Amino acid sequence: MKILVINCGSSSLKYQILDMDGDNLMAKGLVERIGMEGSVITHKRLGNDAWVNEVPMNDHKEAIKQVLDALTDPTHGVVKSMEEIDAVGHRVVHAGEKYASSVLITEDVMKALEECVELAPLHNPPNLIGIKACQELMPGTPMVGVFDTAFHQTMPPESYIYAIPYKYYEKYGIRRYGFHGTSHKYVAERASEMLNCNLDDLKLITCHLGNGASVSAIKRGKCVDTSMGFTPLEGLVMGTRSGDIDPAIITYIRKKENLPSGAVNEILNKESGVLGISGVSSDFRDIEAAAEEGNERAQLALKVFVHKVRFYIGAYIAEMNGVDAIVFTAGVGENAPNMRDLICHDLGNLGIKIDLVKNKVRGKETIISRDDSPVKILLIPTNEEYMIARDTEELVEKLKVKK
Ligand code: ADP
Repeated sequence: MKILVINCGSSSLKYQILDMDGDNLMAKGLVERIGMEGSVITHKRLGNDAWVNEVPMNDHKEAIKQVLDALTDPTHGVVKSMEEIDAVGHRVVHAGEKYASSVLITEDVMKALEECVELAPLHNPPNLIGIKACQELMPGTPMVGVFDTAFHQTMPPESYIYAIPYKYYEKYGIRRYGFHGTSHKYVAERASEMLNCNLDDLKLITCHLGNGASVSAIKRGKCVDTSMGFTPLEGLVMGTRSGDIDPAIITYIRKKENLPSGAVNEILNKESGVLGISGVSSDFRDIEAAAEEGNERAQLALKVFVHKVRFYIGAYIAEMNGVDAIVFTAGVGENAPNMRDLICHDLGNLGIKIDLVKNKVRGKETIISRDDSPVKILLIPTNEEYMIARDTEELVEKLKVKK
């Protein structure tokens, strides 16, 4: 079965086509500057150089048309016609409390997702536009929605309820939802395979450390807690996001700086995190380089980042009464040995012992704990697209059986 995976942002769109019969990635690409001057598609067939095509794309429908043209192009394409694409899997950020797993997209599902727009005003609208554009261009092809929030729906109420008047949960759905669920789920499953253990027998802490970052506590394959909250702003220190702060700071800054409503939200989302502390960059590579050259604020930014990850690891060990493995994934988790080393440093009393030699590795599945470490430490590159394709395949297979 050939599955197209679409991750549609406000002005960009990432895609992959996978042949699930061999679990093979066939091609992938990126469309940028949709609806702007200089829109461009970069398409890469596996094993070939990237093909860059600058072509006007006024909206997402035109962008998806370009993706389909690239996929069927006689020179750069991987399928003869669109009919060869069996289904499309769409990444959707927020499904509220409605969906705890991926679903086949129907009119009712679209309505439910429209209702979640308020919860993710930046992310859900482009996700939905992408689905509609595909539906128009590929009528009759099954579409599946895979949600960042779904995996976290197993959290118990004590993890997701905020201690604010309960009526706000009831009226507005204000609670912890959690994000990066597809990634946490993928690495948890891979961890159980790498450790040759059943997920049911494992307590895992998965650290998705990218530009956006979150930690999850996963017990018997189910998420029991996660650091992102009502929005992806809560939890760890991130590239530009503050993570946890005292909520009183918001009104205080607003008053002191005489800012309009919404301005502090922008500051906390776009000017904070390691960028805000260091003043150097939101990219860990730049900050690590600056820190090495002696930039004290860059050093501090890294220390605060590390402190928070350790804080959550400790909390989740307490919540689960132990941990069998800690998993690192995403940009920083996969590529920054120094960050992994600092996060795991001096946790021997908790049974966490990193092997400094094995840890000198980037971007590949491997165990980086010492042989005598009771808690295993794993590096697992995430693969959200594969998860989306797999869920899509499963749902479409079921649909066939029903018919
Ligand atoms: P997102 O998907 O949230 O945009 P990624 O998971 O792609 O983020 O992670 C991007 C981040 O990973 C970059 O901002 C950078 O800070 C970090 N990163 C990538 N490569 C390295 C590296 N070699 N060393 C340190 N950090 C890295």
